[in-house]
Amino acid sequence: MSGILVVLEHRGGAYNRMSWEALAAGQQIASASGQPLSAAIVGNDLEALSGELASKKLDKGYRVEHALLKDYTADGYVLALEQLVKKLEPEFVVLPHTYQVRDFAPRLAARFGQVLLADLIGLRKDGDNFVFVRQLFQGKLNADYRHPGSRPCFLSVQAGAFRAESLEAGSASVESFAPQLDASSIRSKPDAPFREAAQTVDLGSAPIIVSVGRGIKEQDNLPMVEELAQALGGEIAASRPICDNGWLPMERQVGSSGQTVSPKLYLAIGISGAIQHLVGMKGSKTVVAINKDENAPIFEVADYGIVGDLFDIVPALTEAVKKAKGA
Ligand SMILES: Cc1cc2nc3c(=O)[nH]c(=O)nc-3n(C[C@H](O)[C@H](O)[C@H](O)COP(=O)(O)OP(=O)(O)OC[C@H]3O[C@@H](n4cnc5c(N)ncnc54)[C@H](O)[C@@H]3O)c2cc1C
Repeated sequence: MSGILVVLEHRGGAYNRMSWEALAAGQQIASASGQPLSAAIVGNDLEALSGELASKKLDKGYRVEHALLKDYTADGYVLALEQLVKKLEPEFVVLPHTYQVRDFAPRLAARFGQVLLADLIGLRKDGDNFVFVRQLFQGKLNADYRHPGSRPCFLSVQAGAFRAESLEAGSASVESFAPQLDASSIRSKPDAPFREAAQTVDLGSAPIIVSVGRGIKEQDNLPMVEELAQALGGEIAASRPICDNGWLPMERQVGSSGQTVSPKLYLAIGISGAIQHLVGMKGSKTVVAINKDENAPIFEVADYGIVGDLFDIVPALTEAVKKAKGA
């Protein structure tokens, strides 16, 4: 067995951003091991998605197409991907750790007598083998995992752990692969899509996020932070207490029970940096924290820390941003 197969996710004619992060992980394994890289998309009539896939650095793309794969079902995906994996015999199968992948990938791995090494935050080459890193205890510990057994090795990667911007461009051919599927083997009927699709805001793909915590004290003070977000052209987000209070909608919560984000800039305003918050934002490229407590844990992950009263700093920052933008 040799090679890496990355399975990409798409919906409504567009790729899920996490798919490109999974492909970045695949490229990393391919360049470290010298093995060929392929990528697959699953569905029906996928021609329109081929172009974007073909523009990435990989050896081959596959459109796994069948009328019975038009809507996602775990049965359909497992049966179709099992056939592709048997054909390609990859050493590694890499997937983004989305809700959909959580639904079908453990079963796909079990078809090969394997486990799924899920929600990886990193990987590295160690001799002839790879070491995969997962978080334990809500991100308090990082644990190294090796997969010394038989192949394939099934992996899923955490949102924000690998950077889609680091993807290498290339030119690959994408061919159709027609799995043998029978309607009687698809036992589930697709229902409404996952909740994440219904969200009106996708913080996961926002390049700038201005996030506010309990330091803001009351809801009436939120417009001050919203003005800064607007000046920066960013999305507003929050720690859990803000959303629990109903000051901002739940979909704007960042953290272990909210969204995982990886923007270029994450501004944490009056947020202490509890572990449940950090696990949702520590993939951010640059973190700027404003907090009056110089010992606040948020400063441990901050690239820039401003110790002071947010009620002085935020309006001054907004003013400076507006001035810099000539507004
Ligand atoms: C199972 C579970 C899941 C959870 N999931 C999440 C989650 O998804 N997301 C999440 O965020 N939390 C989550 N939490 C809650 C988490 O443990 C923290 O309680 C929460 O993150 C704290 O929010 P905070 O930082 O806004 O508030 P606090 O911890 O109260 O921090 C407020 C900060 O504001 C600073 N401050 C106060 N006044 C000012 C001022 N005038 N100027 C500047 N700074 C000021 C303070 O110094 C302090 O550091 C979860 C908890 C549990 C148990």
